[in-house]
Amino acid sequence: MRDELGVMSASNVVRSPTGEVVRFPEGGLDNLAAAVASRIDYAFAFRWAPQWVGREQPHVWSEADDWYARCTPCLAESGPVPSEQDARAWHDAHTAASHGR
Ligand SMILES: [Zn+2]
Repeated sequence: MRDELGVMSASNVVRSPTGEVVRFPEGGLDNLAAAVASRIDYAFAFRWAPQWVGREQPHVWSEADDWYARCTPCLAESGPVPSEQDARAWHDAHTAASHGR
């Protein structure tokens, strides 16, 4: 999209789907292209990062009817367990066995 807008901005002309020609003021399409591109960049700027969860806190979540836990330091996962309590119990056991805490 950035490239398409870049090409169009060279002439400051955009043709609408019905064939009408729309002329943008000098730099107008560059501004529009930059705005669109920055929103796209922004949308991909966030990924889950382990440090968002406190170091001693498991990342616990449910999917369908199962619960899962992920160890924050080593990213080991519990696999599906029936309850949040079981997920936290897995985390406690994993932490003791793998990290000596
Ligand atoms: Zn671990």
